[in-house]
Amino acid sequence: ESVVVAVDGTSGSGKSSTCRGVAARLGLRYLDTGAQFRAMTWFMLEHGVDVHDAAAVAARCAEPAIVSGTDPSDPTITVDGADASAAVRSAEVTAAVSPVSTVPEVRKRLLQLQRELIGGGGIVVEGRDIGSVVWPQAEVKVYLSADPAARARRRIAEHAHLGDAASAEAGLRERDRIDSGRATAPLTMADGAVHIDTTDLTLDEVIDLVVGLVEK
Ligand code: C5P
Repeated sequence: ESVVVAVDGTSGSGKSSTCRGVAARLGLRYLDTGAQFRAMTWFMLEHGVDVHDAAAVAARCAEPAIVSGTDPSDPTITVDGADASAAVRSAEVTAAVSPVSTVPEVRKRLLQLQRELIGGGGIVVEGRDIGSVVWPQAEVKVYLSADPAARARRRIAEHAHLGDAASAEAGLRERDRIDSGRATAPLTMADGAVHIDTTDLTLDEVIDLVVGLVEK
């Protein structure tokens, strides 16, 4: 199976759960490119790099060895051999990841890692620019979106520590604003992408829709 499924969309649209579900159902690998940007951000924070100083981030972004596990039932990420799967989900990393992701040298470095992994095919890849920049030749391209209030409710349900829905919604909107407005790899719908609004759909319904696109 050499198919590549590119899934892009906003924060909290259900990308991760959808992609893992689709990969598990079809026996494909799974790549979470957001986790790679988070791992890069975690490395910068650990080393005291000011994440708003693009030159400082660029100067060090070649250093970390970032390895993504591609098993959809247990997606891990290691940085210099240490398992950072939990650390990359922290509030500190979440708050710092958008500025790190705007640095062109960071994107270039991670693009290389992404293309190496995707090259083998048989993979579901989630991110912001997969169908547009990373792998425009993907057989199936999906763009997921959801109403911001629904996205915030889901985040809260997933991570109780995130606090109230209003502040979660504000955080998601802020990340979307930066991700969509940036000059490098802005979040846009790729040519040929199928748009699925997940607001009123269950996870299983979204997975069914995407599996249907792959099997067609
Ligand atoms: O998907 P997730 O929310 O974990 O992604 C974290 C951040 O990484 C996003 O807010 C975005 O700034 C960045 N990102 C990106 N390009 C990707 C995937 C993620 O810029 N392909």
